[in-house]
Order: sequence, then structure tokens, then C-alpha cells
Amino acid sequence: MKQVDVVIVGGAAVGSSAAYFLASQADFKGSVLVLEKDFSFEKCATTLSAASIRHQFSTPGNIEMSQFGTQFIQHIGEHLSVAGEAPDVGFHEEGYLFLASDAGRAILESNHRVQRNLNVDVTLLSPARLRERYPWMNTNDLSAGSLGLSGEGWLDAYSLMHGFRRKAISLGVQYRQAQVLSVKRQGRRIQSVSLSDGSTVNCSVLINAAGTGARTLAQSAGITLPVESRKRCVFHFTSSAQTPRCPMVIDPSGAYFRPEGKGYLCGISPAQEQDPECFDFEVQHTLFDEVLWPLLAARVPGFEAVRVKNAWAGHYDMNTLDHNLILGAHPEVDNFLFANGFSGHGLQQSPAVGRALSELVTYGDYRTLNLSAFGWQRILENRPLLEINVV
Ligand SMILES: Cc1cc2nc3c(=O)[nH]c(=O)nc-3n(C[C@H](O)[C@H](O)[C@H](O)COP(=O)(O)OP(=O)(O)OC[C@H]3O[C@@H](n4cnc5c(N)ncnc54)[C@H](O)[C@@H]3O)c2cc1C
Repeated sequence: MKQVDVVIVGGAAVGSSAAYFLASQADFKGSVLVLEKDFSFEKCATTLSAASIRHQFSTPGNIEMSQFGTQFIQHIGEHLSVAGEAPDVGFHEEGYLFLASDAGRAILESNHRVQRNLNVDVTLLSPARLRERYPWMNTNDLSAGSLGLSGEGWLDAYSLMHGFRRKAISLGVQYRQAQVLSVKRQGRRIQSVSLSDGSTVNCSVLINAAGTGARTLAQSAGITLPVESRKRCVFHFTSSAQTPRCPMVIDPSGAYFRPEGKGYLCGISPAQEQDPECFDFEVQHTLFDEVLWPLLAARVPGFEAVRVKNAWAGHYDMNTLDHNLILGAHPEVDNFLFANGFSGHGLQQSPAVGRALSELVTYGDYRTLNLSAFGWQRILENRPLLEINVV
């Protein structure tokens, strides 16, 4: 039986970020082991994500986490270089554009006030200004748009995750390919984890960064985590349409599209009644044909003719209470820290959450961003910290 100070379950963006921040934290002197069931990382949300970062949220903490995420990505070479080589995450700082019809205008404006209070570089555009800036877009049904002028865009998610991992390993973190089957809890403390190869690892602190596997892990410690796996499909298409200055566009319907290479990525969340808990990776092609494509063609007439080149399905770890992260220890267990329920915005939060976890482990409290609003208390009191801008 092995004894480790901190065991992290899940080695994708969040687990590897936590490992990196712990290992680089001057006041933390312990050992760190990351247990990851699949070193190919083929099926984790991190690899399958749309890999975008925005500051346009309705919850202040989400805005602050993404602001830190942008800073981190912009200076990634200072943080994650190994032997003088920096990860190339290919950050495209092209902005998000949230579009609103008459019905959505008040919410757009209210979010705008929250964002401006936190110095988000965002501007509201009238339909006339939208037409001027994006002549390829149909604005007839629009009342306004909210455009991020800096700090927002998209990147290579795999490279970010790999960068965290590589740097963490260079700082002494150990990675082991193994599935955690169960957690042994005694009273207020986790004592060990049992692995699929029959071995057991004792730990002083356990971090749950298992994405859609997080609920099962929590359950084995007697904790109910309100996180479900919800399938989200992403389609990559090409079109002969010319769309200069195209940002990540969020249509009032909820459909999104953005440039990717010589084409575009797009997606949409299914209607609530067609969005059950789901673990398979089958692409819902009818979602593109029957729902997405008509919406895209209505917004960009040039998208009347498109060709789908590739498509995949991944899973959001959806917090069913309020679509926001659940961070930190459960009040009944002192040494089991959670970072789950990202609900589709965890990649951009991975730097801030990794840093936050390293502070909780080292100091028992937050030292930079105070993220206590994302703690368990609201979950146990059924007091949602609702994020309105879920894409
Ligand atoms: C289609 C799609 C689009 C998205 N778009 C964006 C976006 O544009 N911007 C954004 O910020 N976020 C986006 N997200 C969300 C984002 O990808 C996730 O929130 C983020 O990647 C979560 O990272 P994670 O490390 O917590 O989880 P994951 O990436 O899911 O990693 C969890 C890891 O834990 C491992 N694991 C699970 N159980 C066990 C176990 N018992 N033992 C050992 N290992 C285990 C898994 O193998 C996996 O590698 C999107 C997600 C999807 C699916």
C-alpha cells in the first residue's frame, strides 16, 4: 500500500492544472499522484470540447475565473515551459458575439452591466452596427449584440492539458494509469482509494477531478453530487461563404458557430426534454440537419450551402442545480475536495480552478480569487447560483 499526500482522480485539464499549481506552490512540500484511467485522453470533455474562452458570463465569479484563464494563456510560456519549450496553445483572440432578439435584450443589457463592473472589454452593438461590422450576417430579427473586444477566443484544448501535465511531471508529480473504483471514508476523513488493478493508495487529501465520473466517486464516499453527464455534439463544416472578422457567434436560438481552420465549428444544446443523462458517444446527425443547419442558414445566408466534414460527441458534467462549478470540500468530509459540475465552461476555468485547489490544499482557504460562492453550501441549501449564459 502506498502513501501519498495528495491524490488527484482525473488527469485532464482540471486535474493536471491542480497538479501543476500544487507542484509549483512554494508553500506546498508534499507528494502528488494523479490517477487517470485513460492516458489517451480520447474521450474526456477536455479533448472533445469547443475549446473557447469568454468573459461574458452572468455570474461574477465565472467572469473572474475566465479573466485569470486569459491572462494565464496569454503568458503560458512563463508558466508551463519545460526545458525552454513553451506549449503552443494557438490562442485566437477573436471574441464572442452574443446576439439578442427583442425578447433577450434586457438580459443581454443586465449581463453587460455585471461584466462592465468587472472591467470586461465588451461593447453593445445595435443592429445597424452589427450590419456594418458583419455584412454577411442577417440582422433583421436582432435587437442587439454583445461583443468581446479582447480576452475572448479559442485555443487548442489538448495542448493546454498536455502543457499542464508535462510541466507538473517536470516538477515531480507522478501520473499513473489506473481507474479509481472506490473511496474509503471513515467519519470525516477519506483514508484511501482502491484501484482497478487491485491496489490501494492511502492519501491525506483527495481531489475529485473526474469529470462525468465524479458522481460515482462521490457516491462511494456517501456523498450525493448533483452532476449528470449530458451529451453535446460538435460539427465541423466548410462553406464558400466569406465571413471576415467572424468571432464565436452565439445565436439567440442557442446555436453557436466559430471559425476553425478552413471551416467552422458549430453546435447547440438539445431541448431540455431531449437531454437525458447519457454516456454514449454517438453523434446525433439529425441535430445538424433538422435543427442547426436551418438556424445557421437563417443567420448567415452564405451558410445555405455547407458540407459537414467531421462531427463528434462529448459530455458536459452538468450541475443540475445551477449549471455552475461545485468547488471545495463537502462540509461532512474534511479532506475530499471537489471540482466538478462545470456544465460546459470548465476548460477556460481550469487555470483558476487548479490554482484555487492548490490554495485549499496548502492553506485551507482561498488566497487569490475568493471562490467560496461556488462551494457546497449552496448545493446543500438548494440555493442556486444560477449562470444564465450557458452555451
Ligand atoms: C462538446 C463540448 C464543448 C465544450 N466547449 C467548451 C468550451 O468551449 N469552453 C470551455 O471552457 N469548456 C467547454 N466544454 C467543457 C469542458 O470541456 C469541461 O468542462 C472541462 O474539460 C472539464 O475538464 P475536467 O478535467 O474536469 O474533465 P474531463 O476532461 O472530462 O476529464 C476527466 C478525466 O477523469 C478521468 N476519470 C474519470 N473517472 C475516473 C476514475 N474513476 N479513475 C481515474 N480516472 C477517471 C477521465 O478519464 C478523464 O480523463 C465543452 C465540453 C464539451 C463536451
